[in-house]
Amino acid sequence: DQSPNGPLLARVYSTEPSLQKEDSDLRDSNGFKGHDMLAPFTAGWQTTDLHPLVIEKSEGIYVYDVNGRKYVDSLAGLWCTALGGNEPRLVAAATDQLNKLPFYHSFWNRTTKPSLDLAKELLETFTARKMAKVFFTNSGSEANDTQVKLVWYYNNALGRPKKKKFIARAKSYHGSTLISASLSGLPALHQKFDLPAPFVLHTDCPHYWRYHLPGETEEEFSTRLANNLENLILKEGPETIAAFIAEPVMGAGGVIPPPATYFEKIQAVVKKYDILFIADEVICAFGRLGTMFGCDKYNIKPDLVSLAKALSSAYMPIGAVMVSPEVSEVIYSQSNKLGSFSHGFTYSGHPVSCAVAIEALKLYKERNIVEKVKSVSPRFQDGLKSFSDSPIVGEIRGTGLILGTEFTNNKSPNDPFPPEWGIGAYFGAQCEKNGMLVRVAGDNIMMSPPFIITPEEVDELISKYGKALKATEERVK
Ligand code: PLP
Repeated sequence: DQSPNGPLLARVYSTEPSLQKEDSDLRDSNGFKGHDMLAPFTAGWQTTDLHPLVIEKSEGIYVYDVNGRKYVDSLAGLWCTALGGNEPRLVAAATDQLNKLPFYHSFWNRTTKPSLDLAKELLETFTARKMAKVFFTNSGSEANDTQVKLVWYYNNALGRPKKKKFIARAKSYHGSTLISASLSGLPALHQKFDLPAPFVLHTDCPHYWRYHLPGETEEEFSTRLANNLENLILKEGPETIAAFIAEPVMGAGGVIPPPATYFEKIQAVVKKYDILFIADEVICAFGRLGTMFGCDKYNIKPDLVSLAKALSSAYMPIGAVMVSPEVSEVIYSQSNKLGSFSHGFTYSGHPVSCAVAIEALKLYKERNIVEKVKSVSPRFQDGLKSFSDSPIVGEIRGTGLILGTEFTNNKSPNDPFPPEWGIGAYFGAQCEKNGMLVRVAGDNIMMSPPFIITPEEVDELISKYGKALKATEERVK
């Protein structure tokens, strides 16, 4: 295959398991080769000759592997360790709670103080509109599964048995359980899993650079997408559409901030047809975008909100659903009729997870984390976007402390590199070699460092990125 930029690549570098070996061989042998774990989202787990990267310790924005190598954790784990890797107050909150009450549940009108306190705190923290109730889960996926059940229960209570379909967006990520994977708009989550479920429809991905028409402004692009959404609703019948779900900034789909006026126009359509708006804030909440919530940044007035990740800075697993007064009233009256609201998990409102989350919220406020992200993010965004001129970079996009890089040829969204060149995987391996971990998905690179990152650490991250980019450019020449 001839690169338009130069001669044939010396060797291909691919995300194929057999070629991923090259990546894994960059790692020191650590005795974990051919391990026993069926690893999530891992290409090549079924082969026995890959070295996993085994992380042993964390400190601030850094993690260390079992061989003592230090890495900038540019994705904050999985977009989640907002307060970094060794926050003693979170550890103390967990140990105090473990010593006092390691577990009690929240079923049958029994519960624990940390879960009640956290619910109250969350409702006070979310100010984009008034929310009335909080339901606790263990993860973002469970939060989004819960959303679907709440919405169906709500429409059944209102005597609208046909209003059950969900509209999500292409390239969205909402989790990997049956329902949340169905909502997600990523083909890999559906293929060979018999998904998506038939009640889920997908509308356009709001990625201006990739999908705008020649001469179309961002505002016009948003208008066209809102019209497409309206046409989809009319085609299906508004009486069949229950809810629309969206991440304020799309994360795992490649970091895609919304184009100008997008949410304003989408919300108007959704409202017109009495469709509930669900904000999936699992990545955006608690400061990631330089606002407490994504809803604050984009003036979203949701009916339901999903939370997880930074809710506990990932020190304990926890997710949550916030429910508007209008929706919760209907749910309450229905459950009173039925005798019970029969949904929940053993660990809904786990006291240790809730105690850690309460402390995380306290720290976000005490340390003025939103202001901190706001002040450090121009350095992060501008520093990395200064590489936009690279001949192998199609687009670098992001806001706050979240950023995506997409490698394409000729600066064009329509000119991808041959997948077998594995440009993204090569860049990722170069980052790892230089002591930094990034998220690689094909030729998309994603970063979302901890909120506590300092200006000096941002410079270090940018320098490592620059070195990896240079090595990757050399490779493509
Ligand atoms: N929603 C969004 C926007 C996410 O990014 C994720 C995870 O990355 C999820 C939901 C699923 O969360 P979890 O992995 O905790 O189930």
